[in-house]
Amino acid sequence: ARWVYAFGGGGADGDASMKNLLGGKGANLAEMSALGLPVPPGFTITTEACVHYYANGKQYPAELAEQVKTGLAKIEEITGKTFGDVANPLLVSVRSGARASMPGMMDTVLNLGLNDETVEGLAKLSGDRRFAYDSYRRFIQMYSNVVLNLEHHMFEEILDDHKDRLDVHVDTGLTADDWAAVIKDYKAAVRDQLGKPFPQDAQEQLWGAVGAVFASWMNDRAKFYRRMHDIPESWGTAVNVQSMVFGNMGDTSATGVAFTRNPSNGDNRLYGEFLINAQGEDVVAGIRTPQSLTKAAREEMGDTAPSMEEAMPEVFAQFKSVVETLERHYRDMQDIEFTVEQGKLYMLQTRNGKRTAKAALKVAVDMAAEGVISKEEAVGRVEPASLDQLLHPTIDPTAHRDVIAVGLPASPGAATGKIVFDSDAAEKAAAAGEAVILVREETSPEDIHGMHAARGIITARGGMTSHAAVVARGMGRACVSGAGDVAIFEKEGLFRVRGREFKAGEIITIDGSTGEILAGAPKMIEPELTGDFATLMGWADQVRRLKVRANAETPLDAKTARQFGAEGIGLCRTEHMFFDDTRIAAVREMILADDEKGRRAALAKIAPFQKADFVELFTIMEGLPVTIRLLDPPLHEFLPHTEEDVEAVAAATGLDAAKLLRRAKELHETNPMLGHRGCRLGVSYPEIYEMQVRAILEAACEIAKSGKAAPVPEIMHPLVAKGEEMKYLRDLTDRVAKAVLEEQGVDLKYTVGTMIELPRAALRAGDLAANAEFFSFGTNDLTQTTFGISRDDAGKFLNAYIDKGIFEKDPFVSLDQDGVGDLIRIAADRGRAARPDVKLGICGEHGGDPASIAFCETVGLDYVSCSPYRVPIARLAAAQAAL
Ligand code: ADP
Ligand code: MG
Ligand code: MG
Repeated sequence: ARWVYAFGGGGADGDASMKNLLGGKGANLAEMSALGLPVPPGFTITTEACVHYYANGKQYPAELAEQVKTGLAKIEEITGKTFGDVANPLLVSVRSGARASMPGMMDTVLNLGLNDETVEGLAKLSGDRRFAYDSYRRFIQMYSNVVLNLEHHMFEEILDDHKDRLDVHVDTGLTADDWAAVIKDYKAAVRDQLGKPFPQDAQEQLWGAVGAVFASWMNDRAKFYRRMHDIPESWGTAVNVQSMVFGNMGDTSATGVAFTRNPSNGDNRLYGEFLINAQGEDVVAGIRTPQSLTKAAREEMGDTAPSMEEAMPEVFAQFKSVVETLERHYRDMQDIEFTVEQGKLYMLQTRNGKRTAKAALKVAVDMAAEGVISKEEAVGRVEPASLDQLLHPTIDPTAHRDVIAVGLPASPGAATGKIVFDSDAAEKAAAAGEAVILVREETSPEDIHGMHAARGIITARGGMTSHAAVVARGMGRACVSGAGDVAIFEKEGLFRVRGREFKAGEIITIDGSTGEILAGAPKMIEPELTGDFATLMGWADQVRRLKVRANAETPLDAKTARQFGAEGIGLCRTEHMFFDDTRIAAVREMILADDEKGRRAALAKIAPFQKADFVELFTIMEGLPVTIRLLDPPLHEFLPHTEEDVEAVAAATGLDAAKLLRRAKELHETNPMLGHRGCRLGVSYPEIYEMQVRAILEAACEIAKSGKAAPVPEIMHPLVAKGEEMKYLRDLTDRVAKAVLEEQGVDLKYTVGTMIELPRAALRAGDLAANAEFFSFGTNDLTQTTFGISRDDAGKFLNAYIDKGIFEKDPFVSLDQDGVGDLIRIAADRGRAARPDVKLGICGEHGGDPASIAFCETVGLDYVSCSPYRVPIARLAAAQAAL
């Protein structure tokens, strides 16, 4: 088998299309070589070799040694140098490079091949002893750290001691002899730590570094990064062995990084930094302050140090043209690493640059305008989930700010919500439609579901790269980390900060862009939805077939949804209207009633509120379809549970405390998820659904009569399992509707349908379709009932399933396309067979998840419905699914 692919000398064995085999870095080095760009020659050991290595008890493939030898010989031929040769030594870098770029996650070793003898050869060849020793000490330090697992700071301390002794402050202040002294101490330290000398044999060094790169695929950083970005462990990493070029050979040498456009705002201007007389990581390491690439950028920054354009104009001109070639060739913004050795330019890496959502939009829209890519390609270029970063409100700068603490601005956006202290509570509250801020000492992977459920996250400990910060940014959640003044007393359910106390349930606000934590809910400004955003969304809308609706019941949510381009409401959960303070008393009275007469009397009190809610919603939606789900949760959810709560409610409402408690106990269910809920309420207490249907139609008639666009109510019955159930509910709905329309003298269209959330409903969809004009797949419950897993309890064991590879993803976040997906396919087919024009949609969490939306496109659903803030994400994902 072939494990090694060469590049350099104006050609290559591989190309950019071979990322899976050669890794991103190796494939692009090959591509650049073949384009005739100046790339130091080298070879790539394939990702398959890494996979083989791990599958065979960390043994290299048998043919590898021979193929590496051939690869080295080729580099030697092109460079005219010899690996391990004392007089004319070839030095190489050993670089990791997986399929997906994992910046900084894995290890690289530079200057490999140096030892006590070759360093003298390098000194003679270059005529620069200082350079040779500088390279050697870098190599010892890097190799010791990456391959021999010695602590970095041990070497830093030795170097600092020398600097103190010599009274110099920058590395460039050390002479050749100074470096020689440092090297002596470095080697002594290595021998001291390991009980054996620093390896002098070049071959031993090479294989040590290859092994370390493979090992770095399994280090904790890399594992964590993979989990965050859904990168499978099975991919493995490639290893690139490449002849060294030296940016540290004096003032005509340099090293740098560049983006062809600005990665934070997308401006079409070369962006980057470089350092004269430096090597590799110096630019990012922050030891010296890097200089600008262009004169314009230098002037803008007010820097005094000359830009690359000014310091080395000829190389810069060549560099600029290479960079333009690369962007044109790859048809995307490039992230580039380069080195200049004594006035000669070398390209060391190129890849499609990572960028903020804002930059992604601008680059995509600009490139389409420049004619580099098509509009469809532009639509495909923006990661739908990343729009989240742009869609969050910010605090109105004129609002009063009661700042209670300041932490680190870990993830942008502002969020208001109730304080919760643990992730399960966050998830529960969010499922009940509440906005919460999760407040934790620090977060761990066990908190992912809580962070996902929360609008914002505060941690008392941890920095900008803490778990909380990294995960929050990935999810687009606002986050303030390291708010050290916040003292959390989780057991007591409160935190104290600067002499004030905040309890669970109190409202606070965080500004993830400034790090501020504020009491209360200051006024927010909605995000800008114009410019590039509007342009790209317009293109997306031209492409997509799926309609996008929102899950909304409050006027605010409905307005937000429309602003974001929702084409209707896919799920209005009426129980949220029942919880409102002004009507919960009547709801409880209804639950406490001993008979139908009592229930009807209480329902009559609720009816006007319900009607007013619908009038408001229909008004906002201006004739767009609105799917209203009739009462769904078990009635006990409306009753107080603890004795304290019962007394408080009794005192406040004049209801009888003993009766309240008795009824709460009666209604208690062992397994409420599968209990007296959904349309089962409508079957046992038809008067509840009758009231709701009446309220919906009276509201619709009122709007129609006022001359405004007539609403299209879609009345939805939850948790239906049987055809007979659906027929009963259909008849109930039609009977009430007919009465209302006659009373009102209005001819109005409405439809009746069901949520599909039980496997039986999916299997018998044909029976349901006889009386249902639409299905909405309630995939939250359908996932629960298909797996027999309760979403509220899954947190305790789901991580083990994900860790063990049994679940690839949380099925409540991304639809289980095989199992739950099969039920959806079956239901769609059987539903359409019985009623060809049955309207099909999906509501619930999955309606806003791009992978799930792609699935909905393949099944041919009519629409997806998601939370208001995810509407643009869904619009873009739907467009990409249709491309
Ligand atoms: P990462 O994936 O972490 O960016 P790289 O393999 O790209 O690691 O190496 C880091 C840096 O080392 C590069 O940016 C480059 O400056 C330097 N480097 C790597 N290989 C060579 C080489 N052959 N010659 C000179 N510098 C190199
Ligand atoms: Mg790199
Ligand atoms: Mg449900």
